[in-house]
Amino acid sequence: MKDAAPQPIYLADYTPPAYLIDGVELDFQLHPTATRVISRIRFTPNAAATSKDFFLHGEGLTLIRASVDGRDITPELVDGGLKADVPDAPFLWEAEVEISPEANTALEGLYMSNGMYCTQCEAEGFRRITYYPDRPDVMAPFKVRIDGDELVMLSNGNPVASGDGWAEWDDPWPKPAYLFALVAGNLVARDDSFTTMSGKEVDLKLWVRPGDEGKTAFGMQALKDSMKWDEEVYGREYDLDIFQIVAVSDFNMGAMENKGLNIFNTSAVLASPETSTDANFERIEAIIAHEYFHNWTGNRITCRDWFQLSLKEGLTVFRDQQFSGDMRSEAVCRINDVSALRGRQFREDNGPLAHQVQPDSFVEINNFYTATIYEKGAELIRMMKVLVGDDAYDKALELYFERHDGEAATIEDWVKVFEDSTGRDLTQFRRWYKQAGTPRVAVSEDWTDGTYTLTFKQSTPPTPGQDEKLPQHIPLAVGLLGPNGDEVQPTQILEMTEAEQSFTFEGLAAKPVPSILRHFSAPVILERDSTAQERAFLLAHDTDPFNKWEAGRTLAKDVLVALITEEDAPLDDYLNAIAVMLRDDSLDPAFRALTLGLPSQDDLAQTLFDAGVTPDPMKIYRAQQTLWQAMAEHLQDLLPRLMAEMEVTEPFQPNAEQAGKRALGLGLMNLLNRLDGGAAAQTLYDRADNMTLRLGALGYLLQAQKGDTALSAFRRQFEDDELVMDKWFSMQVYHAAPEDAVDVTDKLTKDTAFNWKNPNRFRAVFGALMTNPAGFHNASGDGYKLFADWLIKLDPVNPQIAARMSSAFETWRRYDVDRQAMMKAQIERVLATEGLSRDSQEMLGRILN
Ligand code: ZN
Repeated sequence: MKDAAPQPIYLADYTPPAYLIDGVELDFQLHPTATRVISRIRFTPNAAATSKDFFLHGEGLTLIRASVDGRDITPELVDGGLKADVPDAPFLWEAEVEISPEANTALEGLYMSNGMYCTQCEAEGFRRITYYPDRPDVMAPFKVRIDGDELVMLSNGNPVASGDGWAEWDDPWPKPAYLFALVAGNLVARDDSFTTMSGKEVDLKLWVRPGDEGKTAFGMQALKDSMKWDEEVYGREYDLDIFQIVAVSDFNMGAMENKGLNIFNTSAVLASPETSTDANFERIEAIIAHEYFHNWTGNRITCRDWFQLSLKEGLTVFRDQQFSGDMRSEAVCRINDVSALRGRQFREDNGPLAHQVQPDSFVEINNFYTATIYEKGAELIRMMKVLVGDDAYDKALELYFERHDGEAATIEDWVKVFEDSTGRDLTQFRRWYKQAGTPRVAVSEDWTDGTYTLTFKQSTPPTPGQDEKLPQHIPLAVGLLGPNGDEVQPTQILEMTEAEQSFTFEGLAAKPVPSILRHFSAPVILERDSTAQERAFLLAHDTDPFNKWEAGRTLAKDVLVALITEEDAPLDDYLNAIAVMLRDDSLDPAFRALTLGLPSQDDLAQTLFDAGVTPDPMKIYRAQQTLWQAMAEHLQDLLPRLMAEMEVTEPFQPNAEQAGKRALGLGLMNLLNRLDGGAAAQTLYDRADNMTLRLGALGYLLQAQKGDTALSAFRRQFEDDELVMDKWFSMQVYHAAPEDAVDVTDKLTKDTAFNWKNPNRFRAVFGALMTNPAGFHNASGDGYKLFADWLIKLDPVNPQIAARMSSAFETWRRYDVDRQAMMKAQIERVLATEGLSRDSQEMLGRILN
């Protein structure tokens, strides 16, 4: 490591800003390599401040001139910004800087994507545009003028006026700089409008590159649905005359909630049946909702500092999850959300990157846009709602909006709102925000003289920097079933606050079967030894859809773990239970499709590791293959009839009902494919008229090693469509056999279409390698080496993505000594790279320790 170790910043060091801002005016003179930015900022000393030092953030800026109250000054340029002597009274700051959007490959600040100007300012990108107090607790109204030759020139707020070569925008709502946005280029809009609950008409525009107009209908509908939903469920009305979304090809994240001008990764907004899968449609609907909902939870009420990030993200994720549940099947959405939580957040929480939902320190804030801040943060809000009840939750939210509108708030403010509006003491609940790690809850039961007792023991394993853990306040949703499958105790919320706690149930005629943690009422790992018979019983009878699915999942896990460790596997119990479940027409096809799925290879690796077994990626892979083969053979007679039933005869609609049928049809084809060697997949591929079926069929052809013809045809057909070509790349890596995956990946990186500076394309290839664990962890170590080579190559170009992708190595300690040594060597090799970014240094440093 050549550079000095990057220094962390601490929540405890927070101090209020020295100066506040009454108003900002920005003039942009656009030029690809020499854009001029003139800023006029009216500052006022902050009465609440402890210091009078005037400091403005700035990075990579060429200062042309600066003045205070019209008098030219020469500020002192320091690391990360500038200092100046200013009056102890309101004053006008003016500055002119020059920047080069074209040279900006980090995609933070003002940059170019396909010849179009766009910005990304969260978290600290605004300081790459001009000198400014780039911290979220400094909020101001912005007026923006853009001069340039572009056809379309947009910024936040309402349009004021425009003419040939210029446009002016006015955003009256005070906002922090991270919500600033500017877009300019050759764009076309889908226009629509929305009438708000108070009768105000809002213009809606979804801007895309010419040629993409045909992919905007779904996104626009999702936006209108979101606006309506936020009015009906949260009473939140939109507050400007116009709401705009712009699609850009080069974007580090999914999308960004800039005030009135959301910027979206094309992958998170463009949709058509021919080019998007059902999963794409669902994700797009959720992200459009998420960004729109930020207008209140994020923009009107923002965060005081970045340690409060989950204040806006956890709440907004929770709101988009509620929305999706209302638009689609609530049960299916919950199962998908929990699967994602376990796949990403539990992985994080049980490894070297574990951190608090409200961290105490960080080096690079970009490294904290994590599953813990987002998805665990959302689970905490879900638990609060369960604890206080739905009506009290609504009242608390009313108070939150009333009390904090226009403010930069804290997580403490949020919890306080719940205490004040419900009268409940949430002191212990606050631990969820400050204690990292996933609690384990072990359950035991007792049945004596007609009294049934459940005893729970909780403990949270140590995480980096936090050895000791205190008991959490855990809502456990529990129901009881009688021996005949009837529910004898409907769902009840048991509040666990002690390390060990028992709950009794009287008046039962027979020993019940418990259904614990219904609807996944807390983000914990439930430890309960159970028999295959009991799991099958719950799969058949549980009235809680989540736990019904969970019973199938745990049974599948028992089978797989036993296959891996070469013990007796309850294979017949599983196969019979799955056959019964599949035949049950009363169950939503989407639910059946989910229940037919198997736990991921990564999930199994973590489960084995927790049980003290060193996971062998090849054995895990083979166990999955073995089980699928056994399922295929066992269900052989059922497959043709069920697959025919799942056929959709109406024209394609991206709705939950059709998507469920396609999902189950494809799940069944995964089994059939193991019997017919790709024959049915080929037929499906040839007649598919939508991307869901086409891509599904392509995957099975690749699995059967019969994908070559389809791959070339697919490429020919979609060569000009970036998003579909991303699929073409990722499918090949994802479905590669373990011994081929690294070669396939390497070969794809040499393809002329591998535009590695584009985050979507890079992720298509290397993200897919991460989800092919048997390939990535190939015993040769070639996967580790290839991955590290590319992190080194990407880091100077786009440190954010390089750092994020380095989490491929976060599970290195799980594996055998040989793999550990090889992974460690690669991590150290990347860390030793001269000039390695702060982002990657922090991530790899934490992974190593
Ligand atoms: Zn968000």
